[in-house]
Amino acid sequence: MPLSNNLRVAPVIKRVLVQGRGEQAVLHQHTCLRCGNTWWPRRPSKPLRCPNCKTPYWDRPRRVKASRPVDGTPLTREDLKDSLRVELGNALGLGTREPNAYEDRSLAKALAVLRAMKAAGRTWQEMAERVEREFGSTLDKDQLKALVR
Ligand SMILES: [Zn+2]
Repeated sequence: MPLSNNLRVAPVIKRVLVQGRGEQAVLHQHTCLRCGNTWWPRRPSKPLRCPNCKTPYWDRPRRVKASRPVDGTPLTREDLKDSLRVELGNALGLGTREPNAYEDRSLAKALAVLRAMKAAGRTWQEMAERVEREFGSTLDKDQLKALVR
């Protein structure tokens, strides 16, 4: 009895596989690596775009520039101001004390110098060198840009 059962069942399995139903049965839910959207595809082939944000690169994570923080969080102008305030404060020998009028004047002066240099058409490199020379703070181009914008 078991043998004849096998003979009857086997051709059915074969037909199912040939008709491609096995393929349809393995549809996977997709997740967009750009916007986090998840959706069910209508066809087994790879979707061309994310239905939410329309990116064709939904299956590839966004590449992060080397100069950015590892977590990809964009630097805000306020972050930069805070870090510059601390850096300038340290450079001027003010340590980690609360900001005072003297430190604020120094920061304001540094910003005024940078803005004047930018208005005069100086390069970011020149501005960075001057900040480093006069204030002992090393700033990269992005930081300078955010400050004098
Ligand atoms: Zn998306």
